[in-house]
Amino acid sequence: MTVRTATLATVELTPESLDHSIRAALPELARAAAPLARLGIGTPRQALFYLPFRYDDFSELRPLGELVPDEKQSAVVRVVDVKVEPGFGRRPQRVIAHLADTSGSAEAIWFGRRYVERRLEPGDEIVVSGKVALRGWRPQFVSPEFSPAGHRSVHTGRVVPVYRLVGGITQKRVRELLARVLERALPVVVDPLRPEERMDLPPLADALRAAHFPEEAADVPAALDRLAFDELLALQLSLAQARNARKGLQAARLVIAPDELGSLLGALPFELTGDQRQAVDQIVTDLASDTPMRRLLQGDVGSGKTAVAAVALAGAVRAGWQGALMAPTEILARQHHAGLAPLLATLGVRGEFLSGSLPAARKRAIHAAIEAGEADVVIGTHAVISEAVIFRRLGLAVVDEQHRFGVAQRAALQAKGTDLEPHLLALTATPIPRTLALTFYGDLAISTIRELPPGRQPIRTELRDRSAMPRIEAFLAAEAEAGRQSFVVVPLVAESEALTAASAEAEVERLRAALPGLRIGLVHGQQPADLRNATMQAFAGGEMDLLVATTVIEVGIDVPNASVMLVEDAERFGLAQLHQLRGRVGRGPHRSFCILLSDATDPIVRQRLEVMRRLSDGFEIAESDLRLRGAGNLLGTRQSGLPPLRVASLFEPRHLRLAQQAGELAGRLLASDPHLSSRPGLVQLRDDFSAAEEEGDAA
Ligand code: ADP
Ligand code: MG
Repeated sequence: MTVRTATLATVELTPESLDHSIRAALPELARAAAPLARLGIGTPRQALFYLPFRYDDFSELRPLGELVPDEKQSAVVRVVDVKVEPGFGRRPQRVIAHLADTSGSAEAIWFGRRYVERRLEPGDEIVVSGKVALRGWRPQFVSPEFSPAGHRSVHTGRVVPVYRLVGGITQKRVRELLARVLERALPVVVDPLRPEERMDLPPLADALRAAHFPEEAADVPAALDRLAFDELLALQLSLAQARNARKGLQAARLVIAPDELGSLLGALPFELTGDQRQAVDQIVTDLASDTPMRRLLQGDVGSGKTAVAAVALAGAVRAGWQGALMAPTEILARQHHAGLAPLLATLGVRGEFLSGSLPAARKRAIHAAIEAGEADVVIGTHAVISEAVIFRRLGLAVVDEQHRFGVAQRAALQAKGTDLEPHLLALTATPIPRTLALTFYGDLAISTIRELPPGRQPIRTELRDRSAMPRIEAFLAAEAEAGRQSFVVVPLVAESEALTAASAEAEVERLRAALPGLRIGLVHGQQPADLRNATMQAFAGGEMDLLVATTVIEVGIDVPNASVMLVEDAERFGLAQLHQLRGRVGRGPHRSFCILLSDATDPIVRQRLEVMRRLSDGFEIAESDLRLRGAGNLLGTRQSGLPPLRVASLFEPRHLRLAQQAGELAGRLLASDPHLSSRPGLVQLRDDFSAAEEEGDAA
C-alpha cells in the first residue's frame, strides 16, 4: 500500500490516511483545515464522525400554489426579479426575489449583507428550501437556501443535515466541507465488523453516508443505530478489558475492626441514616478484601455521601494507610475540604488540601509529607493528585463525580506508591436507573443512599410560562431584599456553546435593566476559567444577589444562602440536569424554590416538567425520564453520570438492546482473542472511544 501511494503523483487516500491531518490527507482542503480544527476536526476520520444533531427534511418538492405556512419546504422555481433594499439605520439590508412556477408565485427574502443578489439572476431556475411564512396572501421563504435546479445539492431539495457550529463558520460551509471529505474518504473506510457481527445493521461506510446525507429520512435511524452499536461495542470492549486486567490485581487488605468502626461512628456529630450505615458496612467489607474495591456510592445532593466517605477514609487511615479524595474542579475540591476536614478531624484524622494554585513551597511540603506517608488524607483535584503526587501507602481513593474520572486517571493512580492497587470509591449525585447501571457499570458494585438526613426542607417547584416573568422578577428582588440569593439558568442553544453564552449575556443585560437594585453576576463556559471561578467565589461569598449562568454551575457549587433556582426554557434540559440544578438550592436553612420556565405546549414535554414538579427523589425522576424519553435525545449523556456517548442514547430502548448485544459480542471476541491482536480495526474503535471519553473528562 505504501508503495502504491509513493508512486502516485496526487495524494490518494488510504485507510491509514484517514487518521492523518486534513492538510496531509486532503491537500485540496488545506484552506479549510483551520475552520475544521475549530470544530474539533483534525483528520478525515474525525470529519466522518462529526455528525449532524438534527436534519431538516426538504426532500418534498411542492408547487408554489401548495406551500403551507410555518413548514420547511422546497420548490423548483424560476427567478422573476431580484431587488436589493439598502439598510437604513438599525434596519439591515434586505434582498427580495420574486419566484414563480406554473402553479403560482412566492417571494424569498434575506436579511443583512449576504451578497445573495450576486448569485441570483432573473430567469434562473433554482431549488429553494426553507421555512415558509405567509405575507398577506403571498407565501414567503424566509432566508432560504437555494441552488441551481438540476444539480444535486447538499443544501436544498433533500434531507439536509444540521451541524453544531462554532463562531465564524456557517452551516453551509460545514455542510459543503463535510460533503467533500465524505466523497474522498468513504471509499477507503474499513468496516471494523464482519458482516455476521453487525446483525442486520448497514456497513460502516453506508451508515456514515446516510448519517450525513441520507437519500431519504427513513434511512437515518438504521445508520445511527449502526454508529451507536460501534460506540457501544467500543465501550463494552474497554469495560470488559478493564475487568479482565483487574482480575490479576492485588489490593491491600484494610481491616477495620468492629469496635474501631463503632468508635468512628460514635465520634460523628450525627447518627448515620440506615442507608448511610448500609453503605459504610458494604465499603468496610470491600476494604478488607485483597481484591481492589470498585464501588459507586450514589445518592442525591445532600444525602450524606461525604459523611460516608469520611468514615471510609478515617477507617483506612486507622488501618495504617493513606487516603485521597479527588474532585473535578478546584472549587469543588475546596468545598469538599471545607466539609470533610472537620468531620475527619472529629474522627482524629487530618485532611490536607492540595491545589495547583497553592504557593510552590507549600505544594512541595505537602508532596514531601505525602511521599513520606505523614499526610493521612489528601483532598484536591483529579489533576493535582493523579499527576504530581507519589503516595507512600495509598489505600483508598475517593472520587467525586465518577463520570469525569476517566481511564487515564485511574491508570495514573494505580501506578503510585506500593505495587498494590488502591481501593476505589466513586461518589455520584446522579442517580442511575438499575437497568442502565447493570448494562454500563457491570464492573462496579453499587451502594445507594435514598433516605435523606432528617430535617431537610423540601424545595417547592413551580412551572411557569414567560408571561409570569415580571412577577418572577419581583420575587427575585424580594428574596434579595431578604438577603437571599438566586440562580438564573439560561437556555441551552443546541447549535453551539457560543450561542448559549451569548444568550446568557443578553439575559444579564435584560435583568440588569429590569432589576437595577440587584447585584448580578454572570458565568458561562466560554469565559476564562479564572474569571468564572472568581465570579462563583464572589457569589458564594454573598457579594452578589443573582447569578446568571449556563449549566456550568451544575457541577456542585455550594451556596447555602441561595434560595431560588430559575431555569429558563426548562424543556431544553434533561430531567437529570434539572434535578442537579434544583439541588443547588435548599442547601441551607431557608425555604427554597425552583421555578421552571417554559412556553412549550407539547404534551410529553409538559409531562416531563410535571415530573419535576411532583417528584423530588432523584431515582424516581431518572426512572420517569427513562420512561418518557423517546427517540431523539439530543442532549447527550455528558451530565447524566453515564459514559459520554455521542450517538447512542441510553434513553432509547432500542439502544439499550444494542448495548446488550454489544456486550455479548465483546465477550465472544475477547474470549477467543483477549488482546484483539487479530482485529486492529476493533482496537482502533476502542481506543478512539477512550480518547473521546478522556476529552469529555477534560471538558
Ligand atoms: P452529599 O455529599 O451527599 O451531598 P453531605 O455528606 O455533604 O451530602 O451531607 C450534607 C449535609 O448533611 C452535611 O451538612 C452533613 O453534615 C449533613 N449530614 C450528613 N449525614 C447526616 C445524618 N445522618 N444526619 C444529619 N445530618 C447529616
Ligand atoms: Mg457533597
